[in-house]
Amino acid sequence: MPRQFFVGGNFKMNGSVDTIKKIINHINDAEKDPNTALYLLLAREHLKAPLEVAAQNVFDKPNGAFTGEISVDQLKDSNITWTLLGHSERRVVLQEDDQFVASKTKAALDGGIGVIFCCGETLEQRESGETVKVVTTQLAAVKEKVQDWSKIVIAYEPIWAIGTGKVASTEQAQEVHAAIREWLKKEVSEKVAEETRIIYGGSVSEKNCKDLSKQPDIDGFLVGGASLKPAFVDIINSHL
Ligand code: PGA
Repeated sequence: MPRQFFVGGNFKMNGSVDTIKKIINHINDAEKDPNTALYLLLAREHLKAPLEVAAQNVFDKPNGAFTGEISVDQLKDSNITWTLLGHSERRVVLQEDDQFVASKTKAALDGGIGVIFCCGETLEQRESGETVKVVTTQLAAVKEKVQDWSKIVIAYEPIWAIGTGKVASTEQAQEVHAAIREWLKKEVSEKVAEETRIIYGGSVSEKNCKDLSKQPDIDGFLVGGASLKPAFVDIINSHL
């Protein structure tokens, strides 16, 4: 079965009721590939099926005294079926380490929530040739805790490309995506390597998405800034 193209919009801590409604209405009304998934935490109420909504984070413990956190059960109760985990803004600003992100990944999957698992290197790590090592170490923590990869989408997001306007070149992105697929083949299984979607994030725009989407190992996008603009629809449809 070919891998289904997957595009997520990461609204982060942006927008207002008014602007979020506007962008969602635009997405609802636009002509788009009916099979593309999308995620927006505050959008469940307004976003029309079959578009889906994902949280930007989830905790690894069941309901209880964890101020400020959100549980897997609470997401499910709110019809949220996906979550983003391991975004570099959480790894860097909130100091989430590989083990914690992997533990949350397991908790989400065990509860039936799909995970968009983010990985990626800093500029310093890229310049010292450590990109593949960093990314596969982040993935290896997941491998230790998870058997079933069918509800994981891997988002490769080089930190130096996030929100900077500096998109990875098609060659740079394809190279890392291929290395991730190779790692999956070697460390997990050929089937998982074949079926897992590896999406790219980092300054994706309506201008650069077409070329990126043509790469054999790029199966979609995780979009920050551009997901808050009407041109997000062009990114959703970039592979058509
Ligand atoms: P950007 O963000 O598209 O604004 O670079 C991507 C992300 O953080 O997921």
